[in-house]
Amino acid sequence: MTEVLSRGTVTIDTERCKGCELCIPACRPGVLTMSSSLNGRGFRYPELVPGCTSCSACLLVCPDFCFEVFRYETPLAHEVNP
Ligand code: SF4
Ligand code: SF4
Repeated sequence: MTEVLSRGTVTIDTERCKGCELCIPACRPGVLTMSSSLNGRGFRYPELVPGCTSCSACLLVCPDFCFEVFRYETPLAHEVNP
């Protein structure tokens, strides 16, 4: 197990998502991955894993305004499998 710190989190409006994947490389820590399941419009959508820095890059790049970003006052530690 390794410890990962999250300095914030995002909400993702998965039903607005059109699956363009612009947010995936925009996320420098690499904590967004595309889902294997589809939303109601038939598109895959991003899912968050621990390690968000609340940098807002996903919010700025998404053409469909799917993200809201929240910064934690105190970083949260997660135990994850490497
Ligand atoms: S706020 Fe930054 S670190 Fe968090 S999911 Fe978005 S791009 Fe990734
Ligand atoms: S950038 Fe927005 S529309 Fe494109 S995959 Fe990410 S959340 Fe979906």
